[in-house]
Amino acid sequence: MVPGVRLVVLGKQGAGKGTQCVRLSHHYVVPHISTGDMLRAAIKTGSALGLKVKETMDSGGLLGDDLIMEMVADRLSEPDARARGFILDGCPRTTLQAETLAELLKPGTLDLVADIEVPTVQALRRLAARRVCIDCGVNYSVSSPPKVNWMCDVCGGEVVQREDDTEEAIRRRLELYERQTAPLIDWYESRNQLAKVNGIGPPDGVLRRIIRAVEERRATGTRR
Ligand code: AMP
Repeated sequence: MVPGVRLVVLGKQGAGKGTQCVRLSHHYVVPHISTGDMLRAAIKTGSALGLKVKETMDSGGLLGDDLIMEMVADRLSEPDARARGFILDGCPRTTLQAETLAELLKPGTLDLVADIEVPTVQALRRLAARRVCIDCGVNYSVSSPPKVNWMCDVCGGEVVQREDDTEEAIRRRLELYERQTAPLIDWYESRNQLAKVNGIGPPDGVLRRIIRAVEERRATGTRR
């Protein structure tokens, strides 16, 4: 059986994080923990959390570090994540979140932080074409839609354009990424926890590159 993994995936919006994280979670048989998916699920159920975060999310803004890290701490403490690990997607997005995450994880247990690199022009093109299942979060695109009538191939849910994939919200999210999240690349690199992965090309190739980076890191025994 494939061993589990404790993996953080970074990358700007449109880098293909969601697509890769779903595949990685199947490969390693660990939960895909996506803060964006968790928040969208809260909005969909109309919970108090959902009502609180909807406006900020739709406008492309970032939510507070405390709210996010409390949610992530709860999820990481569940049995599946404790037993085999996780693919963490969409968090950390700020240095404070990265510091809190480092405190949450036992030292030496994080396998790797993979940064999926794509040029911004390509990310913008992907975001404009992106469609997503509102039930399970699987991504599609206008050039590669679900097989039947915009119903998710995996769960049958409705496949739509995300509320924050408007031109204005995309611009805001990319700006925030450059300002708040991109500095994490150096932050993790200086801790020798980072691998940069080329995110251009077919998803299978990107997946193979991420898995190779994890295996190489394990082989050299430099987990932090
Ligand atoms: P995503 O699906 O990762 O693009 O996240 C969608 C939206 O959820 C973001 O634009 C933020 O509004 C919010 N969000 C998700 N993760 C975080 C985070 N780690 N910190 C702050 N806001 C977040």
